Amino acid sequence: MKDSIKYISTRGNAPKLSFKDVVFEGLASDGGLYIPESWPSLSEDTINSFSSMTYQEIAYAVISPYIDSSLTEKNLKDIIDRSYSCFDTPEITPLKKLNNEHYLLELYHGPTYAFKDLAMQFISQLMDFYLKENSQSINILGATSGDTGAAAIEGFKNVKSAKIFILHPHNKISEVQRKFMTTIKSENVFNLAVKGSFDDCQNIIKKIFSDTDYKKSNHLTAINSINWSRIMCQMVYYFYTLSRLEVGNKKVLFSVPTGNFGDILAGYISKKMGLKIDMLNIATNENDILTRTLMSGEHELKAVRETSSPSIDIQISSNFERLLYDITQNSEYVNDLMRELKETGKYSLKNNNLVKIKESFCSYSVSEEEVGDIIKDTFRDHKIIVDPHTAVGIASANKCEKKYDLKVTLSTAHPAKFKDTVFNLLGNEKFITDKVHNIMELEEDMIIIENSADAVKTFIMENI
Ligand SMILES: *Cc1c(COP(=O)(O)O)cnc(C)c1O
Repeated sequence: MKDSIKYISTRGNAPKLSFKDVVFEGLASDGGLYIPESWPSLSEDTINSFSSMTYQEIAYAVISPYIDSSLTEKNLKDIIDRSYSCFDTPEITPLKKLNNEHYLLELYHGPTYAFKDLAMQFISQLMDFYLKENSQSINILGATSGDTGAAAIEGFKNVKSAKIFILHPHNKISEVQRKFMTTIKSENVFNLAVKGSFDDCQNIIKKIFSDTDYKKSNHLTAINSINWSRIMCQMVYYFYTLSRLEVGNKKVLFSVPTGNFGDILAGYISKKMGLKIDMLNIATNENDILTRTLMSGEHELKAVRETSSPSIDIQISSNFERLLYDITQNSEYVNDLMRELKETGKYSLKNNNLVKIKESFCSYSVSEEEVGDIIKDTFRDHKIIVDPHTAVGIASANKCEKKYDLKVTLSTAHPAKFKDTVFNLLGNEKFITDKVHNIMELEEDMIIIENSADAVKTFIMENI
């Protein structure tokens, strides 16, 4: 725990905050995202020692440099242990071998079958700790492209001091994704199905949070991937992965199915902390804004296309702003780009910035047909059933031009969460677990709402 660690906004016009304040603040008051003033680093010896540690012990080593004296060592260890107690394997994020050069990192062993559980279980425990300490209560507001919402609801359903409002795009997520959210019967949970896209949901949240008075008077807190503590938790499994593989001098690439750029940003920060990652592949589906950005330097919004991997059907990759700030260290420049994006739907990166990004990132997009082929091939060749997001990650990794000795694709969701797509391709139902069969039978509870920040604001006021 470092008492000196403070957090600053990528846009430079919000107060510096302590760790605890960053957890509850979510989006900065100037519209920016919080990041630590400087990146902590871990020594080679420390990182090497991870090979004999448990996931929880590695989590403590990676997370503690970001936390201040608001938590004792014991507090943090307890929170970590509780967070990962509901996973269905002691490894927490097991690795599965596709072949000698390509591994899958299974991130779906938590209660809602997607990697969002890794961070959300931690955040709910963390917030519960702080709230109890001060006898406070909060209202949580989040947008989900399908998986964050379920993970958040699962994490908070028993937290008495919080109410939780989750927006999802109506009819644009899979049935199992929706049921993981809408079948949780708890008085503090509200599911709002917005008549729009995920980007619309995210825009509503941003709009509500930019109304500082409304946010303050209603004790609102955000939990989508703009919340710093999520990124922090997601670094742990990059360290875990390389602690479990014989890396030596091998060149390592991680391939990450990417939407909001949170998961892959965690890989980038792990690299900044000292982890030996050579390349991070931004795997995209037909919503390929980041692939186009890396190719041309032009970051240009297009209409969102619906694909079989809905959790990454996104055009506005919020966390990309954190990368832009990190490579430029220039909050005015970030402000200019974000203003341009809002006003014109695009911006151009300066060439030197693009070059810098490409030192750490590559990006390949994958068509729907390729997703289907990979799901079929992976089953045929390895008897492994992957979900469509993981398939995007694998197919994209296979397209990387340069040779890497070791590729690790993040397997971000359980195939049962997208059972219709996977069943139609494989004609096999064995991967559908009892948990999913049971969920399908439960009654649902959600409110369909207009695509408008005012409608959502009104709903919140009526229900808090
Ligand atoms: C959220 C999600 C992603 C994308 O992660 P980002 O951090 O938004 O880039 C990929 N796959 C699945 C299954 C997800 O739920």
